Amino acid sequence: MEPTGKLEFNCDSCGQCCRNLPAPLPKVCPMLDQATEKCTVYETRPNICNVQWMWENVHSKTTDKAVHEASTEAKCIELKLIAKSKE
Ligand code: SF4
Ligand code: SF4
Repeated sequence: MEPTGKLEFNCDSCGQCCRNLPAPLPKVCPMLDQATEKCTVYETRPNICNVQWMWENVHSKTTDKAVHEASTEAKCIELKLIAKSKE
């Protein structure tokens, strides 16, 4: 595999991506500890939940690194704003 680099991405563990799964999955992942917002299976989480794995194995084949970092961060911000608007 071509070296793809470490994705520069700051996750603050807000849990919003785990609370907004796409249909037909349950909206809130059953593996999310809703009290702590932490993944209860973090070390063995699915690859799709692993931002670095997805970058190296999927997105790097079609997307520029900086573009992917920016779009990932934008999605996180969008999820946080939606959650805040519902408070
Ligand atoms: S929404 Fe983004 S910042 Fe929040 S837990 Fe998920 S990846 Fe991290
Ligand atoms: S498995 Fe873990 S990281 Fe993946 S959506 Fe569920 S709680 Fe989030």
